[in-house]
Amino acid sequence: MAIAQQHDASAADIGIIGGTGLYALVDDLAEVSVDTPYGPPSDSLFVGAFGGRRVAFLPRHGREHRIPPHRIDYRANLWALRSLGVRQVLGPCATGGLRPEYGPGTLLVPDQFVDRTSGRKQTFYDGERRSDGLLPEVVHVSAADPYCPTGRLAALKAAGAAGWEPVDGGTLVVIEGPRFSTRAESRWYGAQGWSVVGMTGHPEAVLARELGLCYTSVAVVTDLDAGVEAGEGVTHTEVLRVFAGSIDRLRGVLTGAVAGLPATEDRDCVCSHALDGLETGLGF
Ligand SMILES: [Zn+2]
Repeated sequence: MAIAQQHDASAADIGIIGGTGLYALVDDLAEVSVDTPYGPPSDSLFVGAFGGRRVAFLPRHGREHRIPPHRIDYRANLWALRSLGVRQVLGPCATGGLRPEYGPGTLLVPDQFVDRTSGRKQTFYDGERRSDGLLPEVVHVSAADPYCPTGRLAALKAAGAAGWEPVDGGTLVVIEGPRFSTRAESRWYGAQGWSVVGMTGHPEAVLARELGLCYTSVAVVTDLDAGVEAGEGVTHTEVLRVFAGSIDRLRGVLTGAVAGLPATEDRDCVCSHALDGLETGLGF
């Protein structure tokens, strides 16, 4: 924190990509507009003190919630956070439960994801020259364990301390959206043993890894998905209602998780070493 303060009001070492109910908690809020070689991020970044650290909040869908999951510029979002100094990212998201026991209000910290999206720009290393003239190298990062082990532990511990007993591990299946799953799709996901379904977890996690950032997904279940729900299936209204009702508890979990993350220079996890020995050509 001391190092960040020596820089400027826009410096942060932890990023949170989440909904608009979250950034209001930042003290000394500084709205920072950032552009990137991939275009602008979803919105301004909101930087300030949170959980005793310097945190940058980014509303994933924009502050008016106008950007659907499949149109989010995930590359711009991760790049923008990194450019402020962020090296560890928490990604809270709304999900549907794929098992009867994962009902609304469940908090799950996944350890795997399955990509069922299509057509999203999902790499910084796609062999194309960027708008600033740089030509990135062809780089393949490991995604075997896509989430930061240290961040996962911090989130699990913070949830327990906040009285919100989390599910430790599980698979987040990420669908293209914006529509919800059919019952057949949902039953299929559940039959594979996957845990929850969302629309934003990919490529957010792998893009973070490609930049050497730690990324931790914090999934809030807002509904039972269509395959385990006997009623009319998932509705957007219900998702928003349950997520809004979880915001206060989620803030508590995020505050504790942020406080429990190591200092940037003390990171020693698979994410922090993802680019060791590699020439990225990304210009950092
Ligand atoms: Zn990490």
